[in-house]
Amino acid sequence: KRAVDTASEMSVRAALFEGAVDAAIPDYTRLADYRSNGGYRLLEKVRSGEFGAEQIAEQLLSAGLRGLGGAGFPTGTKWKIVNDLPGPKYLTINGDEGEPGTFKDRFHLERDPHRLLEGALIAAHAISADRIYLYMRDEYPAVLDILKAEIAALREAGIITSIDIELRRGAGAYICGEESAMIESIEGKRGLPRHRPPFIAQVGLFGRPTLNHNVETLFWIRDIVEKGPEWFAAQGRRGHKGFRSFSVSGRVKEPGVKLAPAGVTMNELLGEFCGGMEDGHTFKAYLPGGASGGILPASLADEPLDFGTLDKHGCFIGSHAIVVFSDQDDMRDVALNLMRFFKHESCGQCTPCRSGTEKMEHLLAHGDWDREKIADLDAVMRSASICGLGQAASNPIASVLRFFPEEFQQ
Ligand code: SF4
Repeated sequence: KRAVDTASEMSVRAALFEGAVDAAIPDYTRLADYRSNGGYRLLEKVRSGEFGAEQIAEQLLSAGLRGLGGAGFPTGTKWKIVNDLPGPKYLTINGDEGEPGTFKDRFHLERDPHRLLEGALIAAHAISADRIYLYMRDEYPAVLDILKAEIAALREAGIITSIDIELRRGAGAYICGEESAMIESIEGKRGLPRHRPPFIAQVGLFGRPTLNHNVETLFWIRDIVEKGPEWFAAQGRRGHKGFRSFSVSGRVKEPGVKLAPAGVTMNELLGEFCGGMEDGHTFKAYLPGGASGGILPASLADEPLDFGTLDKHGCFIGSHAIVVFSDQDDMRDVALNLMRFFKHESCGQCTPCRSGTEKMEHLLAHGDWDREKIADLDAVMRSASICGLGQAASNPIASVLRFFPEEFQQ
């Protein structure tokens, strides 16, 4: 049965790629509409020299734009590092969006794809890149169709000139959202994370300096330069800068992508943006950063949500994927479910992660919540795994032990 299922799934995928099955294409802003609204004028100015690379990098820095794929590294600093290195160089765009609970890139691309494409062409020009590689999640067939059509339209309109955009399809591996694994995948190899250093800014795609950005990071460039870095910076709350696209799911009345200020709290997000909890559910806990960002109790829902603000609780915001739980959810089940996900998605390259996730899942599934054993395994995985998957896989378990000891006792 599995073989038949797999075969039929593959034929549907093949048909989708050939265009034989229409993905439902949402109504989005096409090239003509985008241009009539001032689109690509900024790119012209950048190409004509009216805006220099240094100047834009400075603006991104003062706007406080950070890597919105989850790492939060200052965007302007990344540009400066790669700009100072000799060519050939590449710009890679990570649209793999595999973090459970994250769907913001899809949201933006299904509505306004040229905002990303213009941001990408500006970034590529700024660092003198030779080519742009856009790595897209294959589970988003509508987005792939939109991007294929709009990149072709850009070529036809003469907007894509010497720096071309190459669209690459991911193949469903979570680990290819990790930048070095994504680069391996673009190179045609298995998506295995690389050891660092060297960092991909220095030795990246095809061994060359590479600027890598998440879709949403590039999405903001036009607005920041046109409206000014002060405008973007002023959107945050409590001293945090800018907007964030929160992907909210779980026990809320109105789930979805919420464009909210950086530094908003979970209670504010719930009340102001999500219509509160679903009827009959009491807010109990939330994942602040998808599968790997840990679990926080409702008692910590007044913490500002941004990069670095949740570290003291052993959690992080990552790609801003919020999953809300209620009194009807068992936190041990949540932690076990997430560990199963990591076990499934471990690339298997290093033992602490490959065996660690399997062992951890086995312990939890058999009700063996022995604190000492779990802490021991957690320490090995955290300190000896090559990449963030193995290092953060036990975050949800650590959260349950810390914040829900009564459920652990049961
Ligand atoms: Fe692969 Fe896990 Fe090691 Fe990362 S930590 S390289 S996912 S085995």
